[in-house]
Amino acid sequence: MQILLLPGDGIGPEVVAGAKRVLEAVAAAFGHQFTFREELIGGAALRRGLPPLPESTLAAARAADGILLGAVGDPEFDTGDSSRRPEAALLKIRRELNLYANLRPARVWAGLEDAGPLKPEVLAGTDMLIVRELTGGLYYGEPRGISEDGNSAHNTMRYSRMEIERIARRAFDAARGRLQRVTSVDKANVLETSRLWRQVVIDVARDYPDVRLDHMYVDACAMKIALAPSSFDVILTENLFGDILSDEAGAIVGSLGLLPSASLGDGGALFEPVHGSAPDIAGKNAANPIGAIASAAMLLRHALGLNTEADIVEHAIETVLRAGLRTRDLVTNGAPSVGTGAMAAAIAAAIAQQRGADSEERRAAPSTRSARSGRAATRP
Ligand code: NAD
Repeated sequence: MQILLLPGDGIGPEVVAGAKRVLEAVAAAFGHQFTFREELIGGAALRRGLPPLPESTLAAARAADGILLGAVGDPEFDTGDSSRRPEAALLKIRRELNLYANLRPARVWAGLEDAGPLKPEVLAGTDMLIVRELTGGLYYGEPRGISEDGNSAHNTMRYSRMEIERIARRAFDAARGRLQRVTSVDKANVLETSRLWRQVVIDVARDYPDVRLDHMYVDACAMKIALAPSSFDVILTENLFGDILSDEAGAIVGSLGLLPSASLGDGGALFEPVHGSAPDIAGKNAANPIGAIASAAMLLRHALGLNTEADIVEHAIETVLRAGLRTRDLVTNGAPSVGTGAMAAAIAAAIAQQRGADSEERRAAPSTRSARSGRAATRP
């Protein structure tokens, strides 16, 4: 199985190295052969005089069974035209691989109920999946531009029925493996695109009578995520709203560094932590690798179909957090913390340990399946 690693910029290489270590632990524990290939993307490519998404990277992406990306973004390239920015690589790879569905789970990990800004009793039970449309809306709409005199600028928000329908189906399908509830988020009181969005979602919902649908304006949703995050199951929304709401969801569950994501199309799939390149902490062994490691778990599940292996990675994350291990972003007032490498190593060790315990259990009672919960497996 070919896994393409795209470390990218800033903390990207550090968190991808952590996730690779965990994937190697999975391969060793289950006897899989993962072949890793590494390519340049973002500022790392620009520094070598290449475009932000070099052709060789795109070709490797098309050939891979799964792609794990760190982050792109480098202050050195913050000026200049938008096609020569590291972030252009992300938009291009999503478009080229037609990755239109972005799944962003945000849940409170056991042991981290008090790591975020909310009261633990408000956060308790939070486990939402944000399904964000990824290849339409304001980020891609044409025309776009800045006037010659630099005094005005415009972008275009455009959605077609087809684009809304296919992302809505992803959300309803995901809800079927969870609590069967979809909240569709729009701004239908102001935007025509949102009025079409709402109508198409209602049309799609007819095919899913077992899933409960409600609608919420994006401003109300932002408020409710902060006030009652555990009330959500699946949030379905367009590109810009999903970008903002998922960062908010990350902040309330403790740290942006915890959040994974999967970008899926009808063929390819790309997995990346939700956070950016975090230049403020890059190279300091201070990044939380859990978002990248949980993204690797999503890769195992969605790209390679290895559900048990994905479960075990998530279980290992939970084990080390329950044991009290924390990276710097998860502690306050100078409490003890570990570095990126140590956190990844602990999760890799927990995988080996868990696998060993599972084998023991199977030997002792061959007909009894592991008692480990399948919740993560049913909640993508
Ligand atoms: P960011 O996510 O990089 O950082 C925001 C804050 O969260 C920073 O204080 C950072 O230190 C912290 N943080 C982020 N990830 C962390 C982790 N794993 N562990 C601990 N702390 C973490 O967002 P930003 O500062 O707005 O953007 C920095 C650069 O990243 C910009 O160039 C931006 O364009 C780019 N970016 C890239 C992506 C991506 O590659 N998908 C996403 C967002 C931003």
